[in-house]
Amino acid sequence: MPASSRHHLVVVGGGFGGLQLVNALKGTPLDITLVDKRNHHLFQPLLYQVATTLLATSEIAWPIRRLYRDRPEVTTLLAEVEGVDTRAKTLRLANGDSISYDTLVLATGATHAYFGNDEWEAVAPGLKTLEDATTIRRRLLLAFERAEIETDPAAREALLTFTIIGAGPTGVELAGIIRELAQSTLPKEFRRIDTRTTRVILVEAGPRVLPGFSEDLSAYAHRALEKRGVEVRTGQRVTACTQAGVTIDDSLVACRTMVWAAGVQASPAARWLGIEADRAGRAVVEKNLTAGGHPDIFVIGDTASVLRVDGTPVPGIAPAAKQQGAFVAKVIRARLNGQAEPAGFRYRHQGSLATIGKRSAIIDFGRFKMKGTLAWWIWGIAHIYFLIGTRSRFAVAWSWLWSYLRGHHSARLITQRETMRDGSADGRAE
Ligand SMILES: Cc1cc2nc3c(=O)[nH]c(=O)nc-3n(C[C@H](O)[C@H](O)[C@H](O)COP(=O)(O)OP(=O)(O)OC[C@H]3O[C@@H](n4cnc5c(N)ncnc54)[C@H](O)[C@@H]3O)c2cc1C
Repeated sequence: MPASSRHHLVVVGGGFGGLQLVNALKGTPLDITLVDKRNHHLFQPLLYQVATTLLATSEIAWPIRRLYRDRPEVTTLLAEVEGVDTRAKTLRLANGDSISYDTLVLATGATHAYFGNDEWEAVAPGLKTLEDATTIRRRLLLAFERAEIETDPAAREALLTFTIIGAGPTGVELAGIIRELAQSTLPKEFRRIDTRTTRVILVEAGPRVLPGFSEDLSAYAHRALEKRGVEVRTGQRVTACTQAGVTIDDSLVACRTMVWAAGVQASPAARWLGIEADRAGRAVVEKNLTAGGHPDIFVIGDTASVLRVDGTPVPGIAPAAKQQGAFVAKVIRARLNGQAEPAGFRYRHQGSLATIGKRSAIIDFGRFKMKGTLAWWIWGIAHIYFLIGTRSRFAVAWSWLWSYLRGHHSARLITQRETMRDGSADGRAE
């Protein structure tokens, strides 16, 4: 607890929304406590490149504490929030402690949803955290290693089959880059297997890949994936994920590595507040992003259900979370200064980008659309721009340049043991 008598703002979540809020409040006379269960801010849009060995974890994540070293009014706490007592105006932490607040902002994001099939997670992990990314990376690398020593052709084929479930941006990006890895980076390094025979299957229950994009861009992405050798299966439903493989429309595909990129579930912020949530568990908020009739509690980003002026939902993407963080900063500053609060939050969509693989991306700025190599360069420059700090920008640009020129992926160390499906341990490179 801050010792001063200044207004105490508690922000839970140092993701895109939370950081934008704290950044926008620089110079405002109040004490801020920023609570996160992880010690780092994560640039999720490039997480798939960690999962597929192109980037190292430290290139896309930054210790939150360091980001605010020059802001003495900001206290960073590594702690997990488990509940809110709105009457006592306190947060309950997992270690049993509590923190009191004058104003509370919940920016706790979302995680993956398995639509009631949570047991699939063990074999088909989702991609949301650095731990997820390194787990997927380990499984990916171990699959090739095991295939190299496997003598049974059917087992080897299953090891060299990778299934991605869900063809949104993350699924498409993963499928494209795994094929590139198998096609360009790995073949010269293996002697007993031909990594170019690797099957990458992308399954989507809906009628097309990248449903958030226009039909022509989605069709382009579909063609670009197939040209790279990805098997795209749209309109097909996954009905089981087990150690034997993935069942697609009742037909089993023997496969040892699966990644779940299909569903999103908001953090339990709505439950903590005991307020209405939408189907994805997002807290339904007012126009000024306050929640549950509490003027001193805001919910923003992926964990909030916010509507646009036309009634459609604001998408769960980084710019939306950042805009909401900036908006709440304005409201808080206006209140502290005794000024009129800004009118309700209005989301401005700045465009959508997705990459399919080297020299192939799509951009949708509404009237202006683009696909192919130029779109890929713009995608790359935009992502480098949004990273934090010069070192990260140089590091990522260098890794990309090296991969572009030499086809080399440098983050390929297997550093932890993976429990095998028979319960034994593997991953001898520990
Ligand atoms: C793989 C992937 C790729 C993506 N690609 C893109 C993209 O290309 N473009 C784009 O715009 N968006 C993309 N997104 C979506 C984007 O990352 C999110 O919309 C954005 O991160 C939401 O910001 P947020 O602040 O709401 O939550 P987050 O950024 O997720 O931050 C939430 C924070 O809350 C913390 N937290 C959660 N629960 C607790 C708790 N109980 N106690 C304490 N701390 C807690 C978490 O540790 C985390 O730091 C992607 C997401 C993923 C997963």
